[in-house]
Amino acid sequence: MEAGQLFDLGVQHRKVREVAREVAAKVEPFAAEADEAVTVHQGCLDALRASGLARYVVPAAYGGHDDVLDPLTIAVIREALMYTSAHLDSMFGMQGVGSYSLSVGGTEELKRQWLPKVASLDAIAGLALTEPEVGSDLRAITTRMTADGDELVINGRKSFITNGGAAAFYCTLVREGDGWSMVLIPGDAPGLQIERGADLIAPHILGELTFTDVRVPASHRLGVPGKAFSLMLQTLAVFRVSVAGSAVGLAQAALDEAKAHVLRREQFGRPLIELGAVGQKLAQSWTDVEAARAFVYRAASLAKSDPLGHLDFSSMAKVHATEAAAAVVDRSLQVMGRFGLVRGSKIERLYRNARPLRIYEGATEVLLDSLARRLAKGGR
Ligand SMILES: Cc1cc2nc3c(=O)[nH]c(=O)nc-3n(C[C@H](O)[C@H](O)[C@H](O)COP(=O)(O)OP(=O)(O)OC[C@H]3O[C@@H](n4cnc5c(N)ncnc54)[C@H](O)[C@@H]3O)c2cc1C
Repeated sequence: MEAGQLFDLGVQHRKVREVAREVAAKVEPFAAEADEAVTVHQGCLDALRASGLARYVVPAAYGGHDDVLDPLTIAVIREALMYTSAHLDSMFGMQGVGSYSLSVGGTEELKRQWLPKVASLDAIAGLALTEPEVGSDLRAITTRMTADGDELVINGRKSFITNGGAAAFYCTLVREGDGWSMVLIPGDAPGLQIERGADLIAPHILGELTFTDVRVPASHRLGVPGKAFSLMLQTLAVFRVSVAGSAVGLAQAALDEAKAHVLRREQFGRPLIELGAVGQKLAQSWTDVEAARAFVYRAASLAKSDPLGHLDFSSMAKVHATEAAAAVVDRSLQVMGRFGLVRGSKIERLYRNARPLRIYEGATEVLLDSLARRLAKGGR
């Protein structure tokens, strides 16, 4: 049975999924190596660049594919890429997450300068929100921006920034007066110092950014002064559901890995899958994967027409799919017995790669907290 049959993907989405699967197939031979990388993996970059897929995260007016970004297309692509490599998925996803504030809030000149390069992967994008002392509670950030004539001056620190050190620019959240603003800071701006970030259980390109009297032209401001949260909300409304797409891809890979093992390996004179509890675990995982995929596709297709109006569904999809992926990969490892514990095995890599999905772009508890508040207010 073809994955995704519960939701009727149209011709365009199936075509783009084929392209994404071809890229993933090219990366497959070195996927394990790429997923250990903490700098840009050239093989992934070459494969992704040649595919033109990054054009789907940039508006058509600036070298992208669609006039309005399509969250379902993005989710379908991420599902196919994550099936094979988390590094590849992050490389694609961050081009959109890192540049969307620019697409929405940048000046015409700034958009023309950067977005075509984002679409062609000649410029890698970064989004800098988190600080050493501030994660979920972004209103508490301390990085500050002040205006000085025709320039903006930035001081502070950002932490755990994906593509830190590799990005050509960082859309950066700052305090400005009593509000929060967004500004584009080129990676080579004088006064910006970047150190390598923490080594994670699921390796990732991470940088720690320090801004010391960094000066950029006033035209680098993104969106309305003091209103950056609206810009961030718009980014989340388009891209949060794509993380759920990645989770579906990872869960499918874990299920396939376990299935191949339990069909092959025999104990008590029978293939493992015929031992009741093992088959039940796989059936539960299959159910979880299909349910998550159908939910993600539906939430993503709703997000196209009105991303902000459907953010609740995108949050639910992210919570559901990332938690499902964690359960699926854990069950998969369990039915593989000792072989699931071997370092360097594919299931071990999937197990580690599943973990950050429940924390970044809105930890599960943070999303459930905001959904609970919506319920309390009588929402839906
Ligand atoms: C691989 C990776 C890549 C990242 N890339 C980026 C990036 O590119 N740019 C960037 O700005 N940041 C990035 N981050 C940081 C990420 O956004 C933060 O980790 C995330 O916002 C959570 O913040 P925190 O880790 O400080 O957890 P904390 O805010 O300290 O929260 C810890 C835990 O407390 C619970 N919790 C927190 N708040 C609530 C609440 N309101 N209600 C209930 N429970 C709550 C949750 O379980 C949460 O996991 C990245 C992180 C990772 C792991």
